[in-house]
Amino acid sequence: MNNKEKGKNELEKLLKGNKNFVNGCPTAKNMCLETLKKFAFHQEPYAAVLSCSDSRVVPEIIFDCGIGELFVIRVAGIALGPNVIESIEYAVKKLKVPLLILLGHDDCGVMKYAKDNYPNMTKDFQSIMSAVYPVLDKKEDIKCHNFFAMEHTKWVETTLTDKSKIVSNAVKNNDLLIAKCHFDHSTGLVNLI
Ligand SMILES: [Zn+2]
Repeated sequence: MNNKEKGKNELEKLLKGNKNFVNGCPTAKNMCLETLKKFAFHQEPYAAVLSCSDSRVVPEIIFDCGIGELFVIRVAGIALGPNVIESIEYAVKKLKVPLLILLGHDDCGVMKYAKDNYPNMTKDFQSIMSAVYPVLDKKEDIKCHNFFAMEHTKWVETTLTDKSKIVSNAVKNNDLLIAKCHFDHSTGLVNLI
């Protein structure tokens, strides 16, 4: 089984974990000090997750996971910058995660702010806006923030594989599966896009 196939299995496991969360029957056990002690000097996450910093989007909880399972990079609006790209590269190259989840979500404040201000560059939050505006450059007529978030998640995948040789080579060599997902606050469901 190559790493990409492992990634598919891990994705299925995480989507099943999300169903546990939605159904109110989480099973994660790895949340105690004993687990942390086991991983005191090493880590073996089986997935990296690029998630928004939004307080309602907590990957470990919505995927029913515990300590040591996910390598999580959280940044407002899943805005892709150099530190974010290198964090993903670290997970792929050093930790050899077989799965990368790009997790956008409903009602994202960054998408709303960008929609309100586009095409003007704002005084604040410039690096985040610079990472989000390219989607509006292509599709100025986007009305719905949630649709915008999904389009942005697709843009993140394209841009990440364009900018990162480590990531694009891993995908090409069947070492990495990238899954684009969208979290719906009203249902708790993570859907593939
Ligand atoms: Zn957000």
